[in-house]
Amino acid sequence: MYRGEMEDIKSIINSVRWNEIRDEAVEILRALIRIDTTNPPGNERPAAEYLKKYFSDYEIDSYIVESEQSRASIIADLENGRKEKPLILLSHLDVVPADPKQWSVHPFSAEVKNGYIWGRGTIDCKGLAVVEAVAMTLVKRLKIPLRRPVKFISVADEEMGGEKGAGYIVREENIDGYCVINEGGTGAILGDKKVYLPCFGEKGPIWLKIKAKGRSGHASMPIEDNPNLILLRALYKITSSGLGKKFVENFVRSVKFYLAKDIKPLEPVLSIVEKSEFLKTTIGNILYNILKRKPKLAAMLSNTVSVTMIKSGYKENVIPEEAEAILDIRILPGYDYYEVVEKLKKIVNDQRVSFEIISAYEPSESDPSSDVLKKIKDSVKLVYDYPFVPIISTGFTDSRFFRKKGIQSFGLLPFFLTEEEISTMHGVDERISIENMEIGTKLMLSTILNLCL
Ligand SMILES: [Zn+2]
Repeated sequence: MYRGEMEDIKSIINSVRWNEIRDEAVEILRALIRIDTTNPPGNERPAAEYLKKYFSDYEIDSYIVESEQSRASIIADLENGRKEKPLILLSHLDVVPADPKQWSVHPFSAEVKNGYIWGRGTIDCKGLAVVEAVAMTLVKRLKIPLRRPVKFISVADEEMGGEKGAGYIVREENIDGYCVINEGGTGAILGDKKVYLPCFGEKGPIWLKIKAKGRSGHASMPIEDNPNLILLRALYKITSSGLGKKFVENFVRSVKFYLAKDIKPLEPVLSIVEKSEFLKTTIGNILYNILKRKPKLAAMLSNTVSVTMIKSGYKENVIPEEAEAILDIRILPGYDYYEVVEKLKKIVNDQRVSFEIISAYEPSESDPSSDVLKKIKDSVKLVYDYPFVPIISTGFTDSRFFRKKGIQSFGLLPFFLTEEEISTMHGVDERISIENMEIGTKLMLSTILNLCL
């Protein structure tokens, strides 16, 4: 981007009456929160219709796609008559359940209190949908001619795997795009520092059932092939295996791209590391040991295993015939879940133990050193100049459906959230500050202009 273009975009952003736009965004968000789209069952149709009406108020074409009755997603197009691939602004309409008894306000009342809008979905993900929609209508209202079209997609079913939302749309609507901006990463307030943590890749989850078969008998006569012991041994082998100690290659690439410019001596060192499997593994192991005390960071850099359920036995004095455990395994991009499970079988190396994949999604990633992410970086830094550090997310989003189609996808909630605010997503008292609704719309407008002008 030239200096002149940056100045143009800055002056467009400064020309907006942000007080009014902020209030508009807040009202739309409150309306959407009051539409209960808890998934299951989802019932996203009224939310999709609400947004359809909003777009039509600004003469932006949109349509609703239903994968099943009432499982609705909405697609809106800001066209310019050109054939270029659109910038896709993605979000989802469904929310996870919320128990009103645990909340300090009703999760679907959208109360405004202490500078916040409270309610299930305010951050995840209706807040994002709103700032995307408002920024899009702003472009139309300001009559800015874009070189690249913009496509708004807000889908059903993200919280239950996305097959009835993004998965369905990517398949049935034959979506193509220049890039996708979605949830995943976020702007964060860590201590007293603000930082952008955009997400360029996501780990893939494997839910694995491990079953140990042994011999049942009376507990007064212990036997070696007690299935509980077989299972415990297997779990010990798995959780103490090297599965979690691989260093992520893309992390090196990303650090090289984003930090090497500022820290010059880093670049040649990273280039050497990149070429050597030995160095990557060694440094990976060292880092992993350092990061052990920082489990959140360690989880972003390594494959992880958590034992989540153990089931066995039915009486105090009876050795049961079998015992089973469920594992939640998260693998980094570059790994194949089938191969990882095969590796675990070898590690356990016991015929009495069987493995069953309950469900698994492949990890996915886009190039962290791509021009697109660089443009996103320029866009957000133009409005608020804070460090921009691309990360791998330990969770998964709908981005994977688009990545699979070859569309680069990046996750960045355009808000600055404290760790406490982040923890309310899928938790109690989810809320977003009114200020963040303005910040989000500004960042989104800047991103649209930077990528599409
Ligand atoms: Zn979400």
